[in-house]
Amino acid sequence: MQKTDEEWRKQLTPGQYKILREHGTERPFSDTYDKFKKQGKGTYHCAGCGAELFSSREKFDAHCGWPAFFDASKHENLKTIKDTSFGMVRVEVRCKKCNGHLGHIFEGEGFKTPTDQRYCINGAVLKFVPDKPEAKSAAKEKAKKKQ
Ligand code: FE
Repeated sequence: MQKTDEEWRKQLTPGQYKILREHGTERPFSDTYDKFKKQGKGTYHCAGCGAELFSSREKFDAHCGWPAFFDASKHENLKTIKDTSFGMVRVEVRCKKCNGHLGHIFEGEGFKTPTDQRYCINGAVLKFVPDKPEAKSAAKEKAKKKQ
């Protein structure tokens, strides 16, 4: 997806623009982080292009102040880049579709998750889409009929 700088500025909030297009980082324990913690089942999409990136299944509480996932739900929509800014060697994670900066991946931190990886993602650039309740009740109906 190719957009001009002007188009991105129009589409995104200033905060989202700063993160996605200028490699910024939101402050920890922000309002979006509080919302993130309260969100139930659903999927997380790129605020720039709408591509699915993560789901509630990979979400965990890393107590770091930013949304954390131990894995992606759609690896094909993510790409990683070695990031040597600020005198550190980190792995940057971007949306593959719009090349927007999302956050970083850390590993080997000792979290009791299936991967021991932490996708540390800026909440402001994630769009949460809750699972449809009707899909859930339809599944329940199906289960009832089987009994
Ligand atoms: Fe994107």
